[in-house]
Amino acid sequence: MKVPFLDLRTAYLELKDEIDAAVARVLDSGWYILGPEVEAFEADWAAYCGANYAVGVGNGLDALILALRALEVGPGDEVIVPSNTYIATWLAVTAVGASPVPVEPDPATHNIDPARIAAAITSATKVLLPVHLYGQPTDLDPILALARQYGLFVVEDAAQAHGASYKGKRIGAHGDVVCWSFYPGKNLGALGDGGAVTTDNDELADRIRILRNYGSRVKYVNDVRGSNSRLDPIHAAVLRVKLRHLDDWTKRRRSVASRYAEGLPGTRLILPHVPDWAEPAWHLYVVRSNQRDTLQRKLTKAGAGTLIHYPIPPHMQGAYGDTDFGPLAIAESLANTVLSLPMGPQLTTQEVEFIIECCINAEEI
Ligand SMILES: *Cc1c(COP(=O)(O)O)cnc(C)c1O
Repeated sequence: MKVPFLDLRTAYLELKDEIDAAVARVLDSGWYILGPEVEAFEADWAAYCGANYAVGVGNGLDALILALRALEVGPGDEVIVPSNTYIATWLAVTAVGASPVPVEPDPATHNIDPARIAAAITSATKVLLPVHLYGQPTDLDPILALARQYGLFVVEDAAQAHGASYKGKRIGAHGDVVCWSFYPGKNLGALGDGGAVTTDNDELADRIRILRNYGSRVKYVNDVRGSNSRLDPIHAAVLRVKLRHLDDWTKRRRSVASRYAEGLPGTRLILPHVPDWAEPAWHLYVVRSNQRDTLQRKLTKAGAGTLIHYPIPPHMQGAYGDTDFGPLAIAESLANTVLSLPMGPQLTTQEVEFIIECCINAEEI
């Protein structure tokens, strides 16, 4: 047996008829930028997230950039970000000319440690930008409380958290703006790049809607210097199909996670910790091992695909080689020990049992 880390084709094949029909409908419509398909998906996605508004954009990175631009974050401003995240979170901050200020994660959850945030706040801080990493909701209440106390905005990076809940309420409108990616491998994935923001704030929604479309409300009238970052109707139509299956697919991810949690405790692997207020979306199932590289080699040899999310933290990337963020020991230690096992709604029971068996065998050395 061989189990790849991720197989996007099986996900497509499961919904092939519905997806093909949706794509054909857009091709037939003769309308290929914004329009009714995008508006319909925006309404569906806002409703699903429990938010007043959703705005479809070109990708997850642009969702973050446009959210920061709408909040008028720029040079001289500081944005508090997790030290342990995908680099897009940081790139959005530097793209608008602001400075990322990293805060270390709680090693148990891998998410930003709210207890460390206050010490990083200065008079230049404008935004708290937590990430729901791996689809595990971050502890939002203390973050929202700090934001109120210091007069800061909260922008959530929810690129991995479609369908996750925090204290019984879906991720989507806790902070001022919530940013989504529909990159094909995400829990709700398009057939190419796509993204969105959700918010309860009508002014922010309106600003982002204009910024994504050349700063224009009326064709050829440009009120602000916008950009071109629009969700394509073809992707919107596909996302509407997939959204109808998202809860079922999340349920199936949760049952894979439960099976791992039952089958792996015999090993020395450190398994994900789920706080009692969290309902994760299980974008990734990330374990930790002090012999991570050896373990990954053995699993590869046995036919079990794995990946590392992420091998190099943002502050150690060449992209930020010109800035000294100091040592960030927790992020660095996680980067050296994390390993993502196959996770997805299309994994079969036999495949999950095979992965568990491979992990048990690999640990025996
Ligand atoms: C995927 C991802 C992004 C960026 O999304 P794109 O659609 O690839 O631009 C941002 N943040 C996190 C945490 C992500 O996982």
